[in-house]
Amino acid sequence: MQITRLKQRTIMFSYDTFSVCGHHSYVILGESFNYVLDTGCGSKQMQIVKDYLVSLKETKPIIVINSHYHWDHIWGNCAFKDSPIIATTKCQEMSHQYYQEMCQNNAKFIQGDVTETPPTLTFDTSACFKEDGLYLYASRGHTPDGLILYDTKERILHAFDNIGDTLDHPVPDLMDSKEEYLKALEFMEQFDFDILTSGHNDPQTKEFIKQIKTEV
Ligand SMILES: [Zn+2]
Repeated sequence: MQITRLKQRTIMFSYDTFSVCGHHSYVILGESFNYVLDTGCGSKQMQIVKDYLVSLKETKPIIVINSHYHWDHIWGNCAFKDSPIIATTKCQEMSHQYYQEMCQNNAKFIQGDVTETPPTLTFDTSACFKEDGLYLYASRGHTPDGLILYDTKERILHAFDNIGDTLDHPVPDLMDSKEEYLKALEFMEQFDFDILTSGHNDPQTKEFIKQIKTEV
């Protein structure tokens, strides 16, 4: 377990879930809200995030964002029952559709409580928290329900699992077509950022998107 400050208001929480790649969730300390990006494998991992916020004396209300429906990104939602949980409409559908199956097939990774807690606020194409300079866009490729988050204030693009899990595997598993994913890469490339974060990979730079494009 490691906690890393990426920039002034962005914190990366890295869990020891997998031996082959990393596993991260993120917190952005906003003006009126704190944002938790992905909730890991259950309430136990999210307790680390909550305790850390307490240690910073951060008591602002929390907004949770789910990057896509996969279990290693949503199981900890149950730790934030009183918070809005934001995702794409498709993520809300798919996380419910596959919840039981994901729990059965990946039971050994469960960390604490994993009671189903679906996203409560959804969007189809884009959404924003203007005062905090945070912009969400639906992004297909890895899954049909994914999103990216662009932080204009810190110039960070949170790509989650829309980029590969390790340096050796820059292209993620694609549930969607290659064409759909290439469009998503073009879209990501147009933003001005110097840190590109992932749900599993170490933080990268914009160069990594170029590398993905050569290998996809
Ligand atoms: Zn993942």
